[in-house]
Order: sequence, then C-alpha cells, then structure tokens
Amino acid sequence: MNRRNFLAASAATTALAGVDPAATAAPSTLPLLGAWTGPHNGAPPFDKVVVADFKPALLVAMEENRAELAAITANPAPATFANTIAAMEKSGKTLNRVGALFGVWTSTLNDKPMQAVEQEMAPILAAFQDEVVQNAALFGRVKTVYDARATSGLTPEQRRLTEVVYRQFARQGAALSPDQKTRMAVINQRLATLSTTFSQNELADEEGYALTLTSEADLAGLPAPLIAGAAEAAKAKGLSGQWLITNTRSSMEPFLTYSSRRDLREKGFRLWTTRGDNGGAHDNNAIITEILARRAEKARLLGFATFAHWITDDQMSKTPDAAMALMMKVWTPAKARVAQEVADMQAIADVDAPGTRIEAWDYRYYAEKVRKARYDLDESQIKPYLQLEKLREGMFWAADQLYGFEFVPVSDLPVAQPDIRVFEVRRDGRQIGLWYFDPYARPGKGSGAWMSEYRPQERFAGEVTPIVSNNANFVKVAPGEPILVSWDDAVTMFHEFGHALHGLNSDVSYPTLAGTSVARDFVEFPSQLNEHWLPTHEVLSRFALHYQTGEAMPDALVAKIKTAHTFNEGFDTVEYLASAIVDMKAHLAGATPIEPRAFETVTLKEIGMPREIVMRHRMPHFGHIFAGEGYAAGYYDYIWADTLTADAAEAFAEAPGGFYDKPTAQRLHDCIMSVGNTIEAAEAFRRFRGRDVTIDALMRDRGFPAPAKT
Ligand SMILES: [Zn+2]
Repeated sequence: MNRRNFLAASAATTALAGVDPAATAAPSTLPLLGAWTGPHNGAPPFDKVVVADFKPALLVAMEENRAELAAITANPAPATFANTIAAMEKSGKTLNRVGALFGVWTSTLNDKPMQAVEQEMAPILAAFQDEVVQNAALFGRVKTVYDARATSGLTPEQRRLTEVVYRQFARQGAALSPDQKTRMAVINQRLATLSTTFSQNELADEEGYALTLTSEADLAGLPAPLIAGAAEAAKAKGLSGQWLITNTRSSMEPFLTYSSRRDLREKGFRLWTTRGDNGGAHDNNAIITEILARRAEKARLLGFATFAHWITDDQMSKTPDAAMALMMKVWTPAKARVAQEVADMQAIADVDAPGTRIEAWDYRYYAEKVRKARYDLDESQIKPYLQLEKLREGMFWAADQLYGFEFVPVSDLPVAQPDIRVFEVRRDGRQIGLWYFDPYARPGKGSGAWMSEYRPQERFAGEVTPIVSNNANFVKVAPGEPILVSWDDAVTMFHEFGHALHGLNSDVSYPTLAGTSVARDFVEFPSQLNEHWLPTHEVLSRFALHYQTGEAMPDALVAKIKTAHTFNEGFDTVEYLASAIVDMKAHLAGATPIEPRAFETVTLKEIGMPREIVMRHRMPHFGHIFAGEGYAAGYYDYIWADTLTADAAEAFAEAPGGFYDKPTAQRLHDCIMSVGNTIEAAEAFRRFRGRDVTIDALMRDRGFPAPAKT
C-alpha cells in the first residue's frame, strides 16, 4: 500500500491511438520505426534513438495505424472476429514500438529537449485516441462481432477479447449521438487543461514555499544526512549558513519524524498540508470544483449515475458501494488502533514535554519514539545485510522456485544507458522473455520505482515473447562497493519484480489481454503478493548477507522486523483511508457542487476522523485523483488489491510447503500469473483460492481484529 511505484501504462496501449490530421509523411526510414530484430527474439534499438526523431516517427506510426484501421472499416465483407477484432490486434505495432521507446525517454531520460517533444506530442497522441474511439464505422464493426459473440463459435479468449474491446469503445462514448460526442470532446479537453493546471499549482506551492532553518538550535533532533540535504537545498537557493526543508513529502516527512522543535514541526506541517490551498494564483479549490462537475457531467452523458459508478463499473469492485463497504469495514478497527497509538505516544509526551497534547504535527515524532522503545529496531542495524545485487539474486532465486525461471545476463543487446543491464529469462532452457534492470538515479529520471512493459506477450499470429523492465532510483556508489538499501526499498524491489513476473508469465493469445493489462484494482495484487517472499527464511538466509562479514541476517533481527510489521498501522491505514473515502464520496456527489474545504470537513466529521491525523493527501494537492484520471474514484485500489494479497498469502502460509509449496505456486501461475485479462479478476481469484476473497486475512495482516462473522 501507498508505495509510490507506478505501473507505467505503456505509452502506447494503442490499438487505440490516433493521428495528427495535419501530419505530412516523414521519412519512413527512421530507425525508430523498424521492427525489433536481432538476437534473443529481437529487442528495442536503444542505440538508434535520436530525440529529434520521436516526433516524425510518432507521426508516421500514427498515420500507418490510421491506414490499418481504415483498411479494416473499408472491408466490404461483413464484420467477423478475424477481419475486425483480430485485425485490430495486429494493427498499431509500429506505433507501439515507437511509443515504448518514447515512454523510456519520457520516464528515464527526460531532459529539456525531450520534455519539449513530450509536451508537443502528448495532446496529439490523446487526440488520435479520441479519433479512434469516436470512429463510428470501426465501432459499428466491433459491435457486430460483439452482438454475435455467443453464437459465432469464438474461443473463450476470443469472446473475452471481443467484450473487452467493445467495452473500451462503449465506455469512452463510442455509442453516443454526434451532439453528445461533440460535448464529450469539449469536456475531455477542458478536463485535460484543468488537470494540467492542478498539477502545476501543486508544484508551484511545493517549490514556492519551504521551511527555513536559520540557527543550529533549529536543527535539534535531525539526523546528519537530513541536515546535509537541507544545507544543500539552501545553498541551491543562494541561502548560505541556513537550511531549507523543502515542501515535499520526501523532505517534510523525515523532518516531522525527527525534529524535536515542536514549534517548527507545527510550522512545517501547516505549510505542507496547505499545498494548493493558499489562495491566490496557485489555489486549486475552484479547479477541483470544476473538475468534479465536469466528471459528473461526463458520467451522466455515458449513462451512469455518477463518475464513481462509471469508474468502478469496469473494475473488480463493480460498484462504489462495494469499494465503500470494504473501506468502512477496515476504517472502524483502524480508528480504534489509532486511539491506542495516541495513548502510547501521550504516555511518552507526558514525560518528555508535560502539558503537551498529541497533535497532527506530533504523530510521526512520537511514533518514532514508541517504535524505538518497543522494538529496539533501527534502520542502521538492517541496512548492512541488504545489498542491492544480492537482493536481485534473491528475487531471481525465488522466481526460479515459484515459476522455474532462469535469468541469464546478456551483453549483446543495446541499452539506453551503459549501466542498464539485460537478462534473458528462460524456462526449461527456452527463452520466454527479456528483463531490463535500470536501478540507478540520474537527471531526467522520474522518482520512485516502477515496472514497464516494452512489448506484451502474444501468440495468435506467431510467438512474441514479452519484454519488461524494472526501474529504481538508487544512488550509485564507487565501483566495487555494494549499494545498501533500506528494508522498505527491498520490499519495493520485490514489489516491482512482481509486476515484471506478471508480464513475463503471460501465456495468452492476444496482446490486449496479456500480462499486466488487468483491472486497475487487481493489478497491484501480483506485485504486492511477491513482496511476501522477501521475509522468507529461504531468501534471507541465502541473500540477506552482511556486506563485510558475509554472514546471514541473524534470526533475532529477522524476528524484530516481523514483530514490528504492524507497528503504526492505525496511522498508516487511517491517513490512507481518509483520502480514499473522501475521493469516493466526492465522485459520488453527482451534480451537487463541491467546495473542497467544506466537503472535507463535513465528510471527515461524518466518519469520525481522529483529530490527531490529517488525510494523506488533502484535496487541494491530491494529484492521484485530480492531476488526471489515474486514481479518480480509485484511490481505494490499494486496499482492494491488498485484500486479495493478504488472502492469497495465507494460501501459501497454510500450505504444507509454505511459501515454496509447489502445488500452490503452480495454481498461482495457472490461475493468476499466466492468464492476464483472459479471465475476469474475481473468477481468477476464485480459481486460485477455491472461494471468493474475504477480508479476514487483511485484518490479520494489519493486526486488526477480524470482523464478526455474519
Ligand atoms: Zn505496483
């Protein structure tokens, strides 16, 4: 939960992508346009990329895709699965290839010239997508195949694909009247503008405000690396002899955890929690009101009661009620846990600073004190055992145990940067895919960690093996030195590798249904589940080796880590759920205008928000839901997927062979990891677990009492 990884939507998920009408044909000999050839079943030509080629290559590729789709609609024969749906699956390959390279450059090599290309091309790509979805002739043929799907002799996968493609069109308004389509396009363009402004305002308040520390006394309690970072930040702004805590999560959270200056904690906290809510030019309140109103209108046009109904209709949850019900079941015990946590902290505060009542700016600070006192656990004890490359070997080893994967380094493929590595993935000696590993931070690379898919698996028109990557931001050290990572970073590595394994295990016919192309509230399940192999004795005893002595992590330390697992879970769950509940309720309001400040206050009062915690993301800087549609009415996805994860992890824990139980691993492969979106998410889980998911395992995993049986 709450890990800031993202599963990069391959920049061109695009049988559904489109073209700039004004595009003139550019040289069709650009290297970016070529097929991926060479050894290892072909690979992206990273060595041939020239930033200036992206625009002409994308335009040519879109034009090619437009011609392919025109050929499908011009076919005089009646629409069939083969001449329409399968033909669409075969189309757009050039655009997908260029789009994959474009995605690598925008996410990991995004310098100024590349940013300019991205700014120019993003709306053109979006307009092409609208053009395809609104293509009445194409949708007419899709609908013909869809209407006949039960009687036309399709395989189950072909039928599923037909339904998925039909829904992609219908959900975006392909069946609307011409007037409604025009209105939809206006709304979408307005929403794109509003979202861009929203994120620029958020950024402006992150960069425009900072907490300035002016004396040694202001540094009380801060660890040395944090002080050094703050000094650097001040220097960058020309402030000598001062320290700057920037107004972002990555600097404000550690400050709030360690600063013993309560007055400064309060000051920093207030800055940080009012981003986008400061009045003036960068205030997001009015923008939120309009975004919610436009989304409500869009949902009504598409025939749904509210935007939340439209979003969840295509998810595993199916309805906002189902998502809300899950959140409220967890909310009550999480709140009870917060009361205990506050009591524990208050006991320390009563001694530490008599008369202090725990406030929101005190939570992280006193929680850290409780953690040290109760678990005697310190990050500095753990790190020496967590070497980046050893952990990578541990991930490989566990994947071999579970899926029979062998990872073989290859050196004859081009890479985008010299320090990126490539591994051929084999099963029974046969290549099943490629895995690229790009672990290091560099200018122009997005923060956090993520997985991307360069090429999905398919086999309906010849075997195509998947190509995936894992990306992170570890700081490089001197050659020959090991990179030591935190426990959280190690968990994240296993998480992202779980997405990669989901892509690599894919064994389907059609690319639209392959690998990670599953429902949004299901996609984090395979990745969250893979986190569970890190703390197994089998992995830690072999791969969590001290970088100096080579000794395995002592059992006592492992036990401490496991005991501390549910520490502060009340806080984590409540701050996350408060945001997820406000998100859902705001998108359930329909035509009722929303004034964000009042809406937050009223909603949080209704659910009894503990006064010592604020939402993880207050509405004026809730980029997940307002900087685009990414998690709109979908911030609940994390806990939804975590419910599946906890339940599935117990299937392993209960099995005779534990997390290395062969029959259970085989079932995970057969029912979840290999099927992509060929099977409805709920049914896939049922096949794996033998029953529907229940919430009990999630409650146990978080250390909350299980709900009463009904
Ligand atoms: Zn993820």
